[in-house]
Amino acid sequence: MRQIDHTMPLSSLKFIADCHLGRLAKYLRILGYDTLYFPHIEDNDLIELSNKEDRIILTRDKELSKRKKVNAFYLLSTDIHEQLQVLFTHFSLSKKAHAFPRCTICNTPIHTVAKEEIIHLLPEGVKKNFEYFEQCPTCGRIYWHGDHYRNMMSLLHEIH
Ligand SMILES: [Zn+2]
Repeated sequence: MRQIDHTMPLSSLKFIADCHLGRLAKYLRILGYDTLYFPHIEDNDLIELSNKEDRIILTRDKELSKRKKVNAFYLLSTDIHEQLQVLFTHFSLSKKAHAFPRCTICNTPIHTVAKEEIIHLLPEGVKKNFEYFEQCPTCGRIYWHGDHYRNMMSLLHEIH
């Protein structure tokens, strides 16, 4: 399913992460990079999607990355910090893309939403402690800058 992008693209780079790189896909989405991820996908389907949508395959499968006519980038490390560092350097990624984050669940660009509109959906602790929210127009997921978000951001701050 393709989504209409409502935001200004800061980068034309698009990715598709293999099934070992779900965490990396979430970080790329938070940063605003259009990144597909399926927990279960056959190599041939991965390659077909990559070619059809002009997406770079991010993979931990060295054999796959070496195949002819496959636009893939091999990640040696299993460490999220190292994976991000390597990608930032290799593709000159920008943290500025974060101005237009995507849903970590479904890859749709998310939007600011007024607290009044979604207050009935919030856990009690969140209602009291947070004022700024974003919501995914596709899956409805609501984002606030809680511990999980802060942990992700502090990891990203360490990337150069
Ligand atoms: Zn979503």
